[in-house]
Amino acid sequence: MLNQIKGLHHVTSMAANAKTNNNFFTDTLGLRRVKKTVNFDAPDVYHLYYGDEVGTPGSVMTYFPFPHIARGRPGTGEVGTTVFSVPQGSLTYWGNRLAAKGNLELKVDEAFGEKRLNFFGPDGDGFALVEVKDDDRAAWTGNGVDADHAIRGFHSATMRLRDEGATAELLKFMGYEEVDRADGVVRLGIPGGNGADFIDLETMPNIARANLGAGSVHHIAFAVENREKQLEVRKALMDTGYQVTPVIDRDYFWAIYFRTPGGVLFEIATNEPGFDRDEDTAYLGEALKLPTQHAHLRSYLEEHLEKL
Ligand code: ZN
Repeated sequence: MLNQIKGLHHVTSMAANAKTNNNFFTDTLGLRRVKKTVNFDAPDVYHLYYGDEVGTPGSVMTYFPFPHIARGRPGTGEVGTTVFSVPQGSLTYWGNRLAAKGNLELKVDEAFGEKRLNFFGPDGDGFALVEVKDDDRAAWTGNGVDADHAIRGFHSATMRLRDEGATAELLKFMGYEEVDRADGVVRLGIPGGNGADFIDLETMPNIARANLGAGSVHHIAFAVENREKQLEVRKALMDTGYQVTPVIDRDYFWAIYFRTPGGVLFEIATNEPGFDRDEDTAYLGEALKLPTQHAHLRSYLEEHLEKL
């Protein structure tokens, strides 16, 4: 069993419109845009990152807004709900805020003893806010949500699977432990994590596989401290029979990817070097940053990418 993984690093999803996506995460959810860059493989598509002040691993929601991409069809083999942590007593505030911004399909429920507000993103993305007592992670308050209510980072992610068995096994190998089980959902937690500590596995044996599109999670990334720990995890996964990519430089972290038995794409990402690697913390996310291999496209991209 591994001990290098410290919780979630980021969650990456797809959207149909960059501006709508940007407004939702900054104006509605109050997160900070910590990086404005482009997709490594499709440089005419943005890669937008939202999180706390510096984009601390465990707080970072990222998006590929592919203009006019069809909406995804929810199903199994995907992350169904991405869950953020908010302070105790703040769900009424959030219900009012979301409703005032036109987000009307709100549902409050309770799971594992925690009060939760479920809502949808602009492309039908499944989200929830859960009240967490004493989450001491610092919130970003620069976009109009004060510290008594602001999002602290991720709380968990829920995966919808036809059969949870092999994925639970894998997560346990990665260091997760089963902490609870209720209503067909297994909750796994990582000891000594960064706050984004839980994965819920929901079994839906009769539901078809998801079709990924706008509003779908593309992959989910787990955090390791540095490249050395990442190589340890990579070797252990490969020794167990997983096909893992080589280490890829993503400018703000190093990444490896592998497909899991339940169908969800996993990434292991390093906490180093971080989003302040190429711009001052005070201006994070403001300028268009380009990967070195796409730097020559700057004038074209500055003209053609939608202004945010
Ligand atoms: Zn990623």
